[in-house]
Amino acid sequence: MRLVLLGAPGCGKGTLAILLEAKYGFVHISTGDILRKNLEDKTDLGLRAEAFMNEGELVPDALIIDMVKERLREDDVVKGFLMDGFPRTIPQADEFDKMLSALGLKLDVALFIKVDDETVFRRLTNRRTCRACGKILSLLNIAPGTENCSACGGELYHRDDDTESVIHHRLEIYKEQTEPLVAWYKKKGLLRTVEVEGHYMPEDTFKSTEAALNL
Ligand code: AMP
Repeated sequence: MRLVLLGAPGCGKGTLAILLEAKYGFVHISTGDILRKNLEDKTDLGLRAEAFMNEGELVPDALIIDMVKERLREDDVVKGFLMDGFPRTIPQADEFDKMLSALGLKLDVALFIKVDDETVFRRLTNRRTCRACGKILSLLNIAPGTENCSACGGELYHRDDDTESVIHHRLEIYKEQTEPLVAWYKKKGLLRTVEVEGHYMPEDTFKSTEAALNL
């Protein structure tokens, strides 16, 4: 299955993608993760993207499109894939369509994870990521005082772009530039929606997703 995950920052796309990858073997392609790796490795792309990312701005379309084109050339995409964090603008979605047709592939579903702003805000300020294994955890779901990853014991960190002012800005940009993709994919007949209620657990979203995708 070839899937695009749509939804505000903090809606749970990353966690959902990890669960789907583990159970069904679809390759999880997160443009945010690829960019963060480039930043860490201080590649040319990482250096060009850094300021945009730290300010909560979108990295220019041309850089992202080249990066995704390169990723789609890898052999593992034949297993099916989940795009997490891409496309984020209409021009990216247009280019993505062209990339897929050039590869003789087509998208099966755009899954919109619908969540309200208050929930997003609460979740991002409480989100922590494991430096060692990449697991995403919420301080809302772990025992107070827990400082390490529940999966591997690694150190947890708070992403630089998960601070309050940057979160507000990311949400504004999401509404202006990314949310129009919901209508865009609906028009193409590819949209499915999963609603996330305030106090949800990742497993609940996972179950609703399996039902929405008839998995
Ligand atoms: P994410 O991990 O998906 O929240 O992405 C983190 C940051 O990486 C975003 O706030 C953007 O600065 C950048 N980024 C990731 N994916 C894209 C994209 N498709 N288009 C533009 N910028 C992106």
